[in-house]
Amino acid sequence: MNVRFWGVRGSIAVSGGSFLRTGGNTTCIELEHEGSRLVLDGGTGLQALGSALIAEHGPSTELTVLFSHVHWDHIQGVPFFGPAFHPDSRIVFAGGPGVEEALVRQMRPPTFPVGIETLQARLDFVELPPRQTLRIDPFTVHVEAMSHPDGILIYRIEAGERSVVFATDIEHGDTLDRRLLDLSCGADLLIHDAQYTEGEYRGLTGPSRRGWGHSSWEQAVEAGRAAGVDRLALFHHDPTRTDPQVAMIESVAAQRLCGTFAAREGCRVAL
Ligand SMILES: [Zn+2]
Ligand SMILES: [Zn+2]
Repeated sequence: MNVRFWGVRGSIAVSGGSFLRTGGNTTCIELEHEGSRLVLDGGTGLQALGSALIAEHGPSTELTVLFSHVHWDHIQGVPFFGPAFHPDSRIVFAGGPGVEEALVRQMRPPTFPVGIETLQARLDFVELPPRQTLRIDPFTVHVEAMSHPDGILIYRIEAGERSVVFATDIEHGDTLDRRLLDLSCGADLLIHDAQYTEGEYRGLTGPSRRGWGHSSWEQAVEAGRAAGVDRLALFHHDPTRTDPQVAMIESVAAQRLCGTFAAREGCRVAL
């Protein structure tokens, strides 16, 4: 299974010289196995993925997008996903309750110029209940819920005897959430929310971020260790986090847990 990061930023897309190495697009990850694709979240990174698919494979595509939830930074790339404009494309948008309504609503006046019917592809919307296992050939997907304002789904995706856990926008609180540990037990790659530092989370360097729905990178490391994962990707970087800051966090985190790295736009992982 091949993993490619198209957007690793949280909350809002950023640009500028301080963010070039990490990348500024919001969450979007491509999983590829034996020519089939599964996309995790449709943040602004989805636009670049669409352009790459058109360049490499032509104007139409067939794939499923699994949404963690429908906060803006996870859906804003959908109206700009090039293959969705082609009538031969077939795209399934799957996520928690209300995924269809949210995607339709973001393409409505007065905040967007054209409606979702502008997308000529065949679109199907699927609501996923948590604690389910489903088959999206050649992938097996385990779905679980966790804590985040308005709810969040986390996924364990397996293919070719490899496993990836996608756990963005999760808040553990004071102890690690058992649901995350159970889902990611022994995974080859855990992609984990690392928006804050522990000091930021606890309000030592500004407002407390408790209840904002995210984790510290320190918690991500602890979760990765407790779950016994092979590799840990620090993900959903805060929009204020500069390249040197990401590199510093990555360096300390990797000393604490071998196999840890900061997800960066364009980064590929072969499992
Ligand atoms: Zn987010
Ligand atoms: Zn969110």
